[in-house]
Amino acid sequence: MRKLGIVIIGLLLTACGSDQSTPSAVGTIDAERTYNWKLVTTWPKNYPGLGTAPETFADLVERMSAGRLQVEVFGAGQLVPAMEVFDAVSQGTAEMGHGAAYYWAGKAKGAAFFAAVPFGLNAQEMNAWLHHGGGLELWRELYAPFNLIPFAGGNTGVQMAGWFNREINSIEDLAGLKMRIPGLGGDVISLAGGTSWNIAGGDIYTAMQTGVIDATEWVGPYNDLAFGLHQVAKYYYYPGWHEPGVMAELTVNADAYAGLPEDLQTIIEVAARAVNQDMLDEYTAKNNRALVDLVDNHGVDLRRLPKPVLAQLRRMSAQVVDELAAETELTGRIADSVKAFKAQAMAYHVISEQAYNDARRADDE
Ligand code: CA
Repeated sequence: MRKLGIVIIGLLLTACGSDQSTPSAVGTIDAERTYNWKLVTTWPKNYPGLGTAPETFADLVERMSAGRLQVEVFGAGQLVPAMEVFDAVSQGTAEMGHGAAYYWAGKAKGAAFFAAVPFGLNAQEMNAWLHHGGGLELWRELYAPFNLIPFAGGNTGVQMAGWFNREINSIEDLAGLKMRIPGLGGDVISLAGGTSWNIAGGDIYTAMQTGVIDATEWVGPYNDLAFGLHQVAKYYYYPGWHEPGVMAELTVNADAYAGLPEDLQTIIEVAARAVNQDMLDEYTAKNNRALVDLVDNHGVDLRRLPKPVLAQLRRMSAQVVDELAAETELTGRIADSVKAFKAQAMAYHVISEQAYNDARRADDE
């Protein structure tokens, strides 16, 4: 009976293939149809870098599909609030979202691994792990129960440690600190005796100005200048130990994605890869310029976190990551994958990127 069934299906497919006027055998997929999608984001509309990336994505998709897939981009609060993007795309209120995975750490345990891990992978390594080291498969497994398909959607590179109104000379200076810092970095600040807050970007300035928080990290010079954070804090600390290569995410509702013809699915995949790289290029170019502006024109007091403070934070970060790894079978597998990849990447980067960066500096620098 099974053999007969296969023969009949085969004949039907042959029949379809022989008749040029027969519609697509895939059923609901219509190659001529135009799709109008909504993309909700966690960023203010057209915010430099983070907010312009989804606009660039939408533009690329529209042009590559000759207008068959139209994506309308909504800033935070225009269709849904910033922190409801994950649920909105999961439920199909919007077909796509753009944000950062660690905002959803309370919904999908282990999501933080796909945004930033303190003392973890930098941007180059994050992209390598994701696309050639098994990371993307793990991310898709994590988001599958939420009816979401994630894609890398940009990277800021190494961020800044943040804006503080008190000097950080020892780890004790973090005690009692009320700091806007999401994800695993926030867990580390809590471990150090501070309080971590997850506040959407657009609300940070007011939270600092009104004293709801007394420290914040955001991104780096380019984005921090755009929010005017130098107006509400005294000290600007580096390096961004907590966010060494933050990856933005593009999420797609799995049902909406399955309803697209294969060429439009491929266009989404390729446009996401393009935007992912383009955001890193933009930050790499513009952070340099913005830092000069902040220091030279706005008198920002730029400080490096003392080595003993970084050493303590590194120890606490390892504890936080180990605790997350122990939470579920999947967070354990993700943590193992990241750890193994990081060990190899670090060993090689010591003799490649790091050795080169040292070599191009003059001895007196
Ligand atoms: Ca950040």
